[in-house]
Amino acid sequence: MVRIAVIGAGISGLSVAYHLLQNLQRHKENFTVDVYEKENRVGGTVHSFKEEGFLIEAGPNGFLDSKPSTLRLCSLLNIYSQLLPANQASKRRYIYLRNQLQLTPEKPIQFLTSDVLSIQGKSRFLLEPFIKKAPNERDETIAEFGKRRIGNEAVENLLDPMVTGVFAGNPRTMSLKACFPRIWELEQQYGSLTKALMEIRKKRKTSGPAGPGGILTSFPQGIEYLVERISQENLIHIYYNQEIKNIDYNHGYWYVDKNTNTPYDVLICAVPAYVFASIFRGFSSSVSQKLASIPYSPMAVLGLGYKKEKVQGCVDGFGFLIPHKEKRKILGCLFSSNIFPGRAPQGYELIKVLAGGARFPQIKDYSETRIKDFCLEEVKSILNIRAKPDFMKMFKYSKAIPQYRRGHLKLLEEVKNEITPYKGLFFTGNAYYGVALNDCTKNSLFTAQSVISYLKKHK
Ligand SMILES: Cc1cc2nc3c(=O)[nH]c(=O)nc-3n(C[C@H](O)[C@H](O)[C@H](O)COP(=O)(O)OP(=O)(O)OC[C@H]3O[C@@H](n4cnc5c(N)ncnc54)[C@H](O)[C@@H]3O)c2cc1C
Repeated sequence: MVRIAVIGAGISGLSVAYHLLQNLQRHKENFTVDVYEKENRVGGTVHSFKEEGFLIEAGPNGFLDSKPSTLRLCSLLNIYSQLLPANQASKRRYIYLRNQLQLTPEKPIQFLTSDVLSIQGKSRFLLEPFIKKAPNERDETIAEFGKRRIGNEAVENLLDPMVTGVFAGNPRTMSLKACFPRIWELEQQYGSLTKALMEIRKKRKTSGPAGPGGILTSFPQGIEYLVERISQENLIHIYYNQEIKNIDYNHGYWYVDKNTNTPYDVLICAVPAYVFASIFRGFSSSVSQKLASIPYSPMAVLGLGYKKEKVQGCVDGFGFLIPHKEKRKILGCLFSSNIFPGRAPQGYELIKVLAGGARFPQIKDYSETRIKDFCLEEVKSILNIRAKPDFMKMFKYSKAIPQYRRGHLKLLEEVKNEITPYKGLFFTGNAYYGVALNDCTKNSLFTAQSVISYLKKHK
């Protein structure tokens, strides 16, 4: 009998449990997979909240269909046919610059005619193919990398909002290699991003489509449907309202404090890094300190529902992000009811306002009323929406998204080395090798594969 415990029922914990279940079933093993979750629901950050006919995503809106891991998971779960791609109308994305929304260029060539960069900014950008690549051992920040390759203006106007969109982070402190490994690899492989894009295009013409951006994808009932479906698997036992604070390791078996009678062959921590740090404190203060040093940015998400006639002409495309240099109080807005159908009742629009981030840490001490007030002020000023919303819902996270700072990958290597003596212990989650849902599902698959190899060797 193989016994496996997973701590945390976010997308990472649930997908690792699911992949293990698939593998062990295939090999007709006698096994149990127990998942311990602190809350009375699964999903963690994945949360499709429904009220008064609105469906607001408190966390992720969906995943991009350009990477295979989440699509594959949907296929295994038999829910692939229910996937919902974003509306074509939401293709237009904006950046807020110089007090107005500027259309984001979709293709590199469109930079030349767009207003997101000045003439000097564009000239600097065009030098990109001639810039030498960095030595591969250098752990540059995103801003250093960008400044070197495409110039400071492009960092401020383009890279900065991109980092906001994924990490709500600060490009001046975050590691390029850890946050955007593909971009780092492309520079190493092709010497330039422009050359890389051209080569990839050429190859794609011969080997088929799949753009690097991809299409945002969800379900009619919201992205939470994905985690709900995993949680309905009969052979995954989920223990709700079970906050694990301590674990024990005895004679090669792991124990969790909510079920001290069950010896586990394998323990997988799929909780935020600071929780893993706290659980592991009794085993290694060095590992614990390293994990606890991974910072998280705080965030607030405000859903605003309006009767259509109140916002006519103000809401277009996917939404917009705001570069930090514009010194606004919000990070941007998504026009949720433009992106997917069924996010607002008939005759209404739903706007999702994002606030906070690594450069606004004070937000975690603000009251909800204070956050609502400044978000509404910004919506009025930026989108010219003067009417009162007909629906409002706020979600506040004091630790929303982990920040991979310079040195992140080295720190993870050290943690992995230091936990080697603890046989059967694994960790996965958004604090390590990517925060997007696609990264979480991919890393959970890798973790499941490592667990299977471990079991073959040791049990
Ligand atoms: C506002 C926002 C918008 C986002 N938008 C997108 C997007 O559009 N697309 C995208 O791809 N990604 C997006 N992300 C990122 C993505 O949602 C997350 O990185 C991902 O959901 C994290 O999943 P996880 O399972 O690793 O962690 P979590 O979701 O944090 O799950 C951890 C789980 O562990 C549980 N737990 C914690 N402590 C304990 C304990 N002691 N005992 C037991 N259980 C415990 C928690 O309750 C939780 O269920 C967004 C994130 C945020 C915050």
